[in-house]
Amino acid sequence: MRTLRSLLLLCVAVLCVAVAIAVAQEKAPSSATVTVIRAGTLIDGKSDSPRRDQVIVIRGNRIESVGDASGAKIPAGAAVIDLSHSTVLPGLIDSHTHIFLQGEDPAQGGYDVNILKYPLAYRAARATVSVRRALEEGFTTLRDLETEGAGYGDVGIKMAINEGYIPGPRLFVATRAISTTGGYPLEGYAPELVMPKGVQIVDGPVEARKAAREQLDHGADWIKVYMTHRSWLGKNGELVSQPTLTVEELKAIVDETHGWGKKVACHAYGGLGLHRALDGGCDSIEHGLELDDSAIQQMLKQGTWYCPTLAVYYTDWAPAGTPDGERDRKRASDHAESFKKAMKAGVKIVFGTDIGGMPWTTPIAEEFSRLTELGMSPMDAIKSATTRAADLLEMQGEIGELAPGAYADVIAVSGDPLQNIKILENVQFVMKDGKIFKQ
Ligand SMILES: [Zn+2]
Repeated sequence: MRTLRSLLLLCVAVLCVAVAIAVAQEKAPSSATVTVIRAGTLIDGKSDSPRRDQVIVIRGNRIESVGDASGAKIPAGAAVIDLSHSTVLPGLIDSHTHIFLQGEDPAQGGYDVNILKYPLAYRAARATVSVRRALEEGFTTLRDLETEGAGYGDVGIKMAINEGYIPGPRLFVATRAISTTGGYPLEGYAPELVMPKGVQIVDGPVEARKAAREQLDHGADWIKVYMTHRSWLGKNGELVSQPTLTVEELKAIVDETHGWGKKVACHAYGGLGLHRALDGGCDSIEHGLELDDSAIQQMLKQGTWYCPTLAVYYTDWAPAGTPDGERDRKRASDHAESFKKAMKAGVKIVFGTDIGGMPWTTPIAEEFSRLTELGMSPMDAIKSATTRAADLLEMQGEIGELAPGAYADVIAVSGDPLQNIKILENVQFVMKDGKIFKQ
């Protein structure tokens, strides 16, 4: 009886494996599929200068070789994609997105209607549109930094992409995010009402660690923490930001998350909250509007990443002359100075947009213009969205570069992005994992 049952279980297990393999084969091209891309100009994400007339050989979903067209041997039976009049680059990486936000218009209820009125299925349906749009714009990987009240919806969207049901980028997800009492919307309602929040609220290191454990348990690839919340102008016109978690609370989260081999991203504008983020051991500072010299020194020493998300701070300014309007302008000008100082000092800067905070109709690649306007070279800006972002995600050699062994995430534009970075807003060819999504 016992043997029979074991045998039956074994059969079921074998069947499961067979089914799993069949599904996997549907997702990515099989290793027998060979595709060759002829690239007029190739920016590989690693080198400092482009190369002309290159051939990329792709077997299945990985790059097998990259070399000069003159000496290249095109395997028999290979499908050839002619991009000899284009510039070919690695698939781009946006390290700060919100697929569950849609740049909510305050006139239509703004952020709050998401949580108060929209069924989760409606928000998930719109998230599938966000991810498809990102992929079609050439962003083959996103670090999505929290669902804004949509719980673990990002884990579900990631599963649907990975299993081939919907088109979308590789996702690194943060799930619910963490802040403190008084540290996140919904707010401004009658105190008698217990309102839902856009993040998981914790108070004290025990609750903080528990929230991290829950989120990691349910599939978070990163933990997102809000270290500052409201901001306003102080008596002397300086930007002031309300700090949220204490160092003790943050340390509990960082310790727990690092134990799982994962990292912590901290939203931090400046002042006390930013310094607590660094003292608590955050791995990446998000936004960092006001980086003073000691913060920059500490970031260098600790190897902290900086994801500035510039473009979003140039949208939706309140009218000039109003307190909010003046604050919005001060945010942008302080941010520009912080960015320049950090870049000069050699802080590791990655491309991130906070899209979702802006409508998904905004070109994601617009951030490249902001980075270069503030003095970053076009090649360095491209690296911030390719190899440097791959480092942040601990995916070195796998994504963000066109080199043997990497996943075949390949995009192409017509023209030279090193001469005109705005060309990256018009991606004409997209391949992810060896599959063509746009041509
Ligand atoms: Zn954000």
